[in-house]
Amino acid sequence: MTLTDLKDPRTLYPQPPFEKQPQPAPGFTEKMDPRPDHGEDSYIGHGRLAGRKALITGGDSGIGRAAAIAMVREGAVVTLNYLPDEEEDARSLQSLLAKDGEVHLIPGDITDKAFCRALIKDAAGQMGGLDILVNNAAKQVRQESIDDISDEQFDGTMKTNVYALFWLTTAAMKIMPPGSTIINVSSTQGFNPAPVLIDYATSKFAIRGFTEALAQGAIEKGIRVNGIAPGPFWTPLQPSTGQSQDKVQHFGEATPMGRPGQPAELGGAFVFLASQESSYMTGEFIGVTGGKPIS
Ligand code: NAD
Ligand code: MG
Repeated sequence: MTLTDLKDPRTLYPQPPFEKQPQPAPGFTEKMDPRPDHGEDSYIGHGRLAGRKALITGGDSGIGRAAAIAMVREGAVVTLNYLPDEEEDARSLQSLLAKDGEVHLIPGDITDKAFCRALIKDAAGQMGGLDILVNNAAKQVRQESIDDISDEQFDGTMKTNVYALFWLTTAAMKIMPPGSTIINVSSTQGFNPAPVLIDYATSKFAIRGFTEALAQGAIEKGIRVNGIAPGPFWTPLQPSTGQSQDKVQHFGEATPMGRPGQPAELGGAFVFLASQESSYMTGEFIGVTGGKPIS
């Protein structure tokens, strides 16, 4: 199938019910059934990011993996950051893209401030600069009640989803030239929070605030800052700790399209926000939700 074949979006990709498939965090792509589609066989580039240099956090799997495939095929050099445990996913992506372009790997934990600063420096060093930053990595742990959220979980969610975004962005903005673009991944949870994702939703609201506030000042350096708010996407985050297994079985069913999104359905949104095509947009969020309004 190519993206130009006319298809009904409701039946374009797998629909629930799915099998229960628990796995520990961070989850792995190969353990998912059905296997997520990241655009491996469908994304065709047209040089829209030729010469650009991108760092993608959480770039090994899921939404970050789809962003990486799209950006490399559009001509960007890409550095992937991920947790050291995820080497398998990162290496398989690097070999998949070997024929398309240059992919660098810098594993490490972004809850460590010193690592975040080093990541920006090392990524820029390897690529000969940095002009796209995709803040995509996140921690999501579902809990039935606020009483079940430990201090450690709350701290881990904030460090991964919010502090790291601050540390990486401040370091990156010191070296990014005018024309650079930052893309932050929030969620529908940053607009319509669920009671079982209190700490995660709080962090996703923070990403909205950060993006909208920062965009207004960053433009003084010629840097645009935008975001993406995905609805339910079929990625390892969900069957690992993000959702209960009952929820996984019916994941995406409550959207108007009746199915979860596949990461491949986000590649184009990342490319659009990264490229000059969105040159008059800053401080905005694109909702990709299967039809559920984000405001
Ligand atoms: P994913 O598990 O494939 O990606 C998340 C990545 O975060 C992991 O691969 C891991 O590399 C990275 N990560 C987590 N903790 C880290 C740490 N301490 N240091 C370095 N990296 C770390 O899942 P995904 O669904 O593709 O998630 C990508 C983004 O999309 C996240 O921001 C998530 O909140 C957002 N999102 C996902 C959905 C969904 O339904 N899947 C919906 C809305 C938003
Ligand atoms: Mg992963």
